[in-house]
Amino acid sequence: MDDVAQATSEIAIEHVVKHFGTVVALDDINLNIEHGELFFLLGPSGCGKTTLLRVLAGFYTPDEGHVLNAGKDITKKPPHKRQVGMVFQNYALWPHMTVAENVAFGLRQKKLPRQLIEERMLASLASVRMEQYANRKPNELSGGQQQRVALARALAVRPRYLLLDEPLSNLDAQLRNEMRMEIRRVCKENQLTTIYVTHDQKEGLSIADRIAVFSRGHVEQIGTPIEIYKKPISRFVAHFIGESNFLEGTILAEDGPFWVVNTSLGTIFGIQSDNPALLRTGDHVFLSIRPEAIRLRGEHIDRNAFEGTLAGISYFGEVAHYDFSCDSAHLKVSELNPRHLEISTSAKTIANVRPEDVLILQR
Ligand code: ATP
Repeated sequence: MDDVAQATSEIAIEHVVKHFGTVVALDDINLNIEHGELFFLLGPSGCGKTTLLRVLAGFYTPDEGHVLNAGKDITKKPPHKRQVGMVFQNYALWPHMTVAENVAFGLRQKKLPRQLIEERMLASLASVRMEQYANRKPNELSGGQQQRVALARALAVRPRYLLLDEPLSNLDAQLRNEMRMEIRRVCKENQLTTIYVTHDQKEGLSIADRIAVFSRGHVEQIGTPIEIYKKPISRFVAHFIGESNFLEGTILAEDGPFWVVNTSLGTIFGIQSDNPALLRTGDHVFLSIRPEAIRLRGEHIDRNAFEGTLAGISYFGEVAHYDFSCDSAHLKVSELNPRHLEISTSAKTIANVRPEDVLILQR
């Protein structure tokens, strides 16, 4: 990492390595997180997200590397001296205390004046819109309300940064949608630097400023939600974030902004994803095509058109998923406001994709 980044980043993670016996949980992690940023650590189970969060909280000391907060090395600072707020999946509220007592707990530990404790407790509850529940016990609240209280408790101590570990995974789908927008609102209103761990890509895509996609202890890609979704740099990222069809192919030629690739579906035009590796004629590559980028249509088109049949239809109301079967491949196709539900599954259909929606990834 360069000196400029070190001076300006709220959190800098430099060459962090952590082993558990023979398992390399973190393998040379380098990240810069900016002040006020809502930064996601996203990846499948066991890829090292929680381990990194614990390093940031001070529960683990890395075997190698450093963690800096506003330029100061905090690698060996114990958790209670870091002024960090944490919210966990299971809320971790004390059942025998009221909401007000739960939120005020951290402030009492700091032995702040009574008046200040009261003010901060009320302000934190207000910021998650829970003032009217101050005298309830946690078991008298819904899951979403308990998670708001956990967030208020983390905010009350005025953390230098906030760590969220799968905070919504105990909530049902609708509440998760509401709460993730709420978390973003609270973080932005308080200008909090927030690191949010999840394996739920929808949470990351919908509210993150930036996302680091983890795979087996290393960072595979860092980017905004749009960059990660639209320009995955590897098959792993394209597969983990959203759905994708993958085809193997060999590069035949370059044609203006596009590459021409020979595949089992014939010749397909595509673009290189953001991967800095240069493509060359003869390279063996993967093509990644999102199901929603494929259009089902009646007429024939010159480029990137495949003839096949709809082998299966799953109807979800606003969207339908089709299994489009060609001679040599199956493609997942999705369509908003579905129009092809009455189509006979034996009738031939043309599927088409724009070349800019075909991403070429190195094999
Ligand atoms: P999940 O989404 O399932 O929580 P994760 O991405 O947070 O997964 P980590 O909990 O960071 O993954 O684990 C990373 C790797 O380190 C895994 O292989 C895990 O088994 C191992 N690991 C984590 N904590 C310990 C520990 N205390 N002792 C031994 N191995 C551990």
